[in-house]
Amino acid sequence: MRQIGLAMKTKFSSDFKLAVLGGGQLGKMLLYETRKWDVYTKVLDPSSEAPCRMACNEFVRGDLNDYDTVMNFASDADVVTIEIEHVNVQALRDLKAAGKAVHPDPEMLAVIKNKARQKELYQKNQLPTASFEVFTNVAEAKKAVEDGRFYLPCVWKSAEGGYDGKGVKMIRAIADLDFETHSECLLEEKVDFAHEIGVIVATRADQKQTAVYPPVEMDFHPEANLVEYVISPANLTEDQYSEAQTIAQNVAQTMGSTGLLAVELFLGKDGHLYVNEVAPRPHNSGHLTIENNYTNQFEQHLRAILNLPLGSTEEKTAGVMVNLVGAEGENGPVEYKHIEKALEMPGVTPHIYGKAETRPWRKMGHVTIIGPDREEAMRKAVIAKDIIRVQRR
Ligand code: ADP
Repeated sequence: MRQIGLAMKTKFSSDFKLAVLGGGQLGKMLLYETRKWDVYTKVLDPSSEAPCRMACNEFVRGDLNDYDTVMNFASDADVVTIEIEHVNVQALRDLKAAGKAVHPDPEMLAVIKNKARQKELYQKNQLPTASFEVFTNVAEAKKAVEDGRFYLPCVWKSAEGGYDGKGVKMIRAIADLDFETHSECLLEEKVDFAHEIGVIVATRADQKQTAVYPPVEMDFHPEANLVEYVISPANLTEDQYSEAQTIAQNVAQTMGSTGLLAVELFLGKDGHLYVNEVAPRPHNSGHLTIENNYTNQFEQHLRAILNLPLGSTEEKTAGVMVNLVGAEGENGPVEYKHIEKALEMPGVTPHIYGKAETRPWRKMGHVTIIGPDREEAMRKAVIAKDIIRVQRR
C-alpha cells in the first residue's frame, strides 16, 4: 500500500492545519487567502481583540514569547508561520526538530530579530549596506563618537526589540547619545537617500522556485516615522530597478529564506542601493499587491509556505497605498470619519484592520488607490488620505 506522508497530505478542505503566530492585520489579510482556499488555520495572539479573531478557524489567546504556550499551540499543526518577529524562537527550533515545517526558518529569524547579527550577515556576504559598528551599550557607542572612531551625523539602533522606528534615533550631536540603555546597539552611517525602496521576494518551501515583486517606493512621515505613501511603480532607472530586485534576491538566497522576505533598501543620492533591513513575512510595503498585482503578497506567502507553485508578481496597474493611522490626541473607541466620501472615488479601496481602540499614529487600516499611471494614482492618494480621519468615537 502507498504511504501518504506529510508532504502528500492535501492542504485544502482537509484536516491539514496552518498555525500562525501573531493575530494582527498581516495575519488577518493572510486569512482572506486561507479562507479562499479553505485551508484550516489557528492563530495565537495575546489580545482577545486581535484582528485575526474573526477569520481563523481556531483562535488561542496567549503569549507569543512563552515557550510552553507556543509549543502547545503548534503541537497539532502541520505548518507553522509568523506574522510578527517577536516570538519565542527556541519553541520554533523545537517544533522544527519535531518534524513541523516552520517558515521562516528559526535560525534565520534569530538573525533577523537582532539588527547587529543582520548587519554582520550583510557585511560578511558583501551585500551592500551602510557602514556600522556594534556596541554592548550606548555608553560605549558614545565613547566611539567622542574618540573620533565614528562620525556624526549617524543613526543609533537598538539591536533587539525595535519596531516601526522605535529603537532608532538620529544622532546629530554627541549629547543625542545621552540616554540610558544597557543592551546591545549599533551606530550606522546616515545614508543620504533619495527614496526608500521595498522589494518582496517569495521562496517556495522546497527552495526550488522564487518570485520577486516589482520594487515600490516608500515615503516616510517625518514625525511618526511610519510609511506615509507606498508608490508603485517606484521612481527608479531601469538599472536601479533590476539591481534592487537582484540585491533582494541575493539577500533571500543568502539567508536561506522560505516564504516571503520583505527587503527594505535605501536609494542613496549617490545612486547606490543599500540594504537597510528585512522582514521574513508579509509587509506593509506589499499591501498594494492586493489591488495592484496578479498575485497578492498574502496569497504568495501561502503558496510559498505550502510548497505550491508561486504566482505571477506582475503589476496590473499603478497604485499608491496610504496607512490609516490614529489622529494625534485621539485615544479610545475608533471611528473612521468621512470614509463614505473616499468610497465615492473610483479606484479607492479602504482596508479596516478591526482594532477596537485608536491611539495617535496607531496603524488602524490602509487605503489603496489605483490609477492608470503613478502620477494619477498619487494625485488621488493625496486627496483620499486627507478625507478619512481616524478618530475617537
Ligand atoms: P524599524 O526596524 O523600526 O523599522 P529601521 O531600521 O527601518 O527601523 O529605521 C527606521 C527608519 O529610520 C528608516 O525607515 C529610515 O527612514 C531611517 N533610517 C534607518 N537607518 C538609517 C540610515 N542608516 N540612514 C538614514 N536613515 C536611516
